Amino acid sequence: MPKLLALLSLLVPLLAQAAPAEISGARLWIAPDQTQLVMDANAPLEHKIFSVSDPNRLIIDIPDARVTGKLPLAEPADLLVKGVRSGLLDNGQLRIVIDLKQAVRAKSFVLEPNERYGHRLVVDMAPKTAKNRSSPTTPSPKADAKGQQGPRDLIIAIDPGHGGEDPGAIGSEGTLEKNITLAISHKLANLVNGEPGMRAVLLRDGDYYLSLNKRIELALQQDADLFVSIHADAFVDQGAGGSSVFVLASDGATSQQANWLAERENSADRIGGIDLQDKSQALSKTLWEMALKGTLEHSDLAARAVLENLSKVGAVHHAKVQRAGFAVLKVPSIPSLLIETAFISNPEEEKRLLSGDYQARLAGAIARGIKTYFAANPPPGTRWAGKGGRRQASVPKPVAGGRQHVIGKGDTLERIAQQYEVSLSALRSANKVEAAKLRIGDVLIIPEG
Ligand SMILES: [Zn+2]
Repeated sequence: MPKLLALLSLLVPLLAQAAPAEISGARLWIAPDQTQLVMDANAPLEHKIFSVSDPNRLIIDIPDARVTGKLPLAEPADLLVKGVRSGLLDNGQLRIVIDLKQAVRAKSFVLEPNERYGHRLVVDMAPKTAKNRSSPTTPSPKADAKGQQGPRDLIIAIDPGHGGEDPGAIGSEGTLEKNITLAISHKLANLVNGEPGMRAVLLRDGDYYLSLNKRIELALQQDADLFVSIHADAFVDQGAGGSSVFVLASDGATSQQANWLAERENSADRIGGIDLQDKSQALSKTLWEMALKGTLEHSDLAARAVLENLSKVGAVHHAKVQRAGFAVLKVPSIPSLLIETAFISNPEEEKRLLSGDYQARLAGAIARGIKTYFAANPPPGTRWAGKGGRRQASVPKPVAGGRQHVIGKGDTLERIAQQYEVSLSALRSANKVEAAKLRIGDVLIIPEG
């Protein structure tokens, strides 16, 4: 008996080795500057990749594997891939052939299993011609304006979270965060573009994944004045709900939850099919640390204005701007915020997030917050700089001749009401403000006593 067991234990690894790896599925993701083929397997896939011309093809030879699932169909919109097929060579090797519409630069790598996927083999393809498709549709408007007279438009970089391989959080009804973030971002971009002197740049406009660094790089390329990352995450507690606005923490996070969310968001690259060995994308640490200091203060001002407007649309999860180490917010020189519009893990909110009407209300609130921030802090040289006023646009302009009060340190609505002998409710309704939103330097209208 012991002999038999010993024999079996010898055989089991041999048998396991003998079974070919199984490719159980594959997907194609089409980004503006590349197409990505991702194959799922039950083991790491050792492989060789090479290209052949006439006609253009990419060949991937995998020594010991079989395709057990479906290979994806190419999409007409894909400028690179015509089709994907597989076959067995005489020596028993698996050959995957990617038929191409043009010559490509290709790169392949394997990814370790993570919480969402098992082993993956990824093939990134980009056009061989030098023409860069990567910039989000238009050239930098700021760059355009250089050498021209007159003020320029404000550029708002809108970053729809997740995409492609990375679905983001998934609601109990199967709603994918990546689709919600894109829908809200589109609505926000439309509102921004409808605003005179403002221009939106959508960093992702389709279902593909962009690395966190790539998002930052695109915003920098576009010389954005503000970076807004849109999310709708899940949380362990299904009851968690409402919007939150985050800025980068220069030191520790505001809460454990903020920390938890930041870690989740920062893991997106592992899920999104990014070659993590490739360090060429990484921004130099000193570059952003140098520029970051002055930027954080403005991130905070913009975040407060957005949060204030979101609170008028629905519940806010945190009444204050949250801080945590979100990688996507480490943008040197551009004030940056990350908005968790709602929690997709909350069944009520998942339902609302699917409604175009609710998406529009969220986008509207974010747009109003952005306008409030820029009305008070217009960058020099922009059309908004001429609009005057360093102060909050949300507070009504004082009426000529009427009584007014400039908020000072320690002021409360109660105290101001007492001072001018008016009722608290009259003061509130004349200014449409609540105590929590008083800010030093804001001007309050004092109603007639
Ligand atoms: Zn997210």
